[in-house]
Amino acid sequence: MSRIYPRFYTMCHVSDPIGAAALYCEAFGAVVTDDTRLPNGDPYISISINGADILVRPGDNHAPPKDCCVQFASVADCTKAYDLLTQGGTGEETITDAHWTSLMAQVTDKYGVHWLLSVNDGIKGNLVLTVRRLVGLEAEHPGLVSRPLLAYAEKWLTLEDKLSALPELKAALTEGLDVDFTGTRWEKGWLANGKVCKCEACVTARECLSDLELNGV
Ligand SMILES: [Zn+2]
Repeated sequence: MSRIYPRFYTMCHVSDPIGAAALYCEAFGAVVTDDTRLPNGDPYISISINGADILVRPGDNHAPPKDCCVQFASVADCTKAYDLLTQGGTGEETITDAHWTSLMAQVTDKYGVHWLLSVNDGIKGNLVLTVRRLVGLEAEHPGLVSRPLLAYAEKWLTLEDKLSALPELKAALTEGLDVDFTGTRWEKGWLANGKVCKCEACVTARECLSDLELNGV
C-alpha cells in the first residue's frame, strides 16, 4: 500500500518573490526553508510560519492569493504584522469585538496578497461573548451586577492574556453570584428558590461559569 505524506502549503504568486519573502519573514517571524533559483533566475522561495509553509514564487499569469489567514498569539504581534504589511499596501477593516478574536485586521500588501490577520487568545466557546453580555447588563439594569464582578469582568475583557486570568475570572464570578439576601425584601423569594438568585445578572454569571468549564477552569 502506498503511503501518503501530506504537505499543505499556500502558493503565493507575486511580482517580486525575494522582496515578498523578506517582508513575510519580518512580519510573521517566518524562516526561509528553501531558496531555489530556476535556470532563468526565477526565485522559488519556501518560507515557514511556525510550520505552516508558503511558497513564494513569480507571478506568471496567476493572481496573488486572497484570504491568507494568519493567527498571532498576541495583539502586539498582530499589530506589528499589520503595520509592516500596510507599508506600500492597503489596510482594510480592523475589528476588535468579534466573538472569536480580540483583534482581526485585513490588509492587502504591496504585492497584492490579501491577509486576514487575527489574534488567537486560546479562549474556547462563547466565554468572551457571555462576559461581554454580563458587562452589557449594566447599561440596561444599573446596579444589577455586583460592583467587584462588573469591575473585574470589564478588566478581563481588556487583558492581552485572558487565558492565564481565567481562575481570577472564575473567582470574581463565584464571589459575585447569589448575594445573601437575608433580611432584605428579596429574602422570601430567594429562600423559595433554594438561595439561588434568578436575576439576569446571576443567570448570565452562571452561563459564564459553564463556559469556563469548557475552558477547563
Ligand atoms: Zn442575582
